Amino acid sequence: MKISVLSGKGGTGKTLVATNLAAAVRPSQYVDLDVEEPNGYHFLKPRLRETVSVGVPVPRLEEGKCTGCGLCAGVCQFNALAAIKNKVLIFPELCHHCGACSLVCPEKALQEVQREVGTISIGEERDFMQGELQVGEPVAVPLINELKRRVKENGPVFFDCPPGAACAVVHAVEDTDYCLLVTEPTPFGRHDLAIAVRLMEKLGLPFGVLINKGDGKNGDVHQFCREKGSKILAEIPFSLEIAETYSRGELLIQGEKDWLHFFQNLFGKIKEEVGHENHRHPQR
Ligand code: SF4
Ligand code: SF4
Repeated sequence: MKISVLSGKGGTGKTLVATNLAAAVRPSQYVDLDVEEPNGYHFLKPRLRETVSVGVPVPRLEEGKCTGCGLCAGVCQFNALAAIKNKVLIFPELCHHCGACSLVCPEKALQEVQREVGTISIGEERDFMQGELQVGEPVAVPLINELKRRVKENGPVFFDCPPGAACAVVHAVEDTDYCLLVTEPTPFGRHDLAIAVRLMEKLGLPFGVLINKGDGKNGDVHQFCREKGSKILAEIPFSLEIAETYSRGELLIQGEKDWLHFFQNLFGKIKEEVGHENHRHPQR
């Protein structure tokens, strides 16, 4: 079972929830897909087994063979090639690795080479994985796809997704069994939750809501969830103690026993939701 933990923006407590869930449900696998700023390892403190490089294919020019015909630049839909005065310039960061330029070149002057975009670190027991995008690298998707390709097939997997609702998030959540949307009971939280819910509806993914830093009131976010028919699975109250525990890089479940039950109980509710969903849509 693959469970995505996401939020409309950063700082809502997505990693707090994902790491505590993964630590409370044993055995399980935690995968940090927030590759621009992975921080789950601060809390889970895994012993790493290996770090592997992840590359993408990009064209390299053999200048001696190039006639400057410009066919390659004409076929590239992403402006990653430019033919100027019979010279070809390549902008590897813009390349989307489709291979069309190498195919179309009549002189076979373009060869595909690997360009490193980031690394993947794997925990000793394979219960932890994280991706780390190289600084300045604009596209996170190849690294996210590679992490997802390596997940364990048995047991629950918790994806700590990138913030927002852009391309990287779509790739992170697609093909998962359930999405847990973490939000805050503020107007900003409601706004970002609305975007995340729209994304879930567009992708046709089952989801539930967790309210973090709850104020005990029946406010905006509750009203939004009622109107949309979105299920609130749990609420974590606003607490200085939780903020201090988080800032020390500790898991909530290592402290009070109640938190271990809270996250195990949350997982139980997610499992129930996935069960209902499978019953409603057996073809999924
Ligand atoms: S591989 Fe595709 S995207 Fe990359 S430079 Fe060639 S045509 Fe453009
Ligand atoms: S298609 Fe080949 S020969 Fe023509 S400009 Fe591009 S690299 Fe040079």
